Amino acid sequence: MTNSANKEQLIACQQCDALYEKPELKQGQSAKCTRCGSTIEERKVNSIERSFHWSLAGIMLLVPAILLPIMGVTLAGQYHHASLLDCIVVLIDRGFFMIATLVFLFAIAVPVVRLFGAFYITYSFKFNKLKPSLLYFFRAFHHLDNWAMLNVFMLGIVVSMYKLLDDTELSVNMGLLAFILWLISSTMASSALDQDYIWQKLEDEFVD
Ligand SMILES: [Zn+2]
Repeated sequence: MTNSANKEQLIACQQCDALYEKPELKQGQSAKCTRCGSTIEERKVNSIERSFHWSLAGIMLLVPAILLPIMGVTLAGQYHHASLLDCIVVLIDRGFFMIATLVFLFAIAVPVVRLFGAFYITYSFKFNKLKPSLLYFFRAFHHLDNWAMLNVFMLGIVVSMYKLLDDTELSVNMGLLAFILWLISSTMASSALDQDYIWQKLEDEFVD
């Protein structure tokens, strides 16, 4: 390759590293690797709009998901409710600091940051408020992707730990429903987000 302009026109398959010329895609189109069949690039339909609304829904579900009781427990004949936050407090109380920290980080902190991140990015695109700092912001946001699905795993840990600690009857509560809806909203918010499109747009604007 002799000049850098040509380099920018190339795209590599993420699965098998085959190189292709960057395709010009319209909304709803995708390009597949002829070697391994995986998707090289995809233009999602109404990406910004959909991601914006899912993240908005997720932000609204945030408080009920964390503070409403996710389960009811019968302790010494008395019925108690426990929210996700209560469960973390109980874990700390019993000396399980490590697990409490992990649960807090991956079931609450990371998803909250991702949700507000997706909201901020889609908001900036939707209302045309692009600025150079958005490029750094999106880089950081992109890294959080690796930790996306850990919250489901953490919820499982919380429920089973709680059940082990207090040998009690469990019942499912409103908070769990809110948590699941919250989970769906945040997953949809990031899956609707067309990262290729955002990278390209930010690079065109702010990278020389
Ligand atoms: Zn491939």
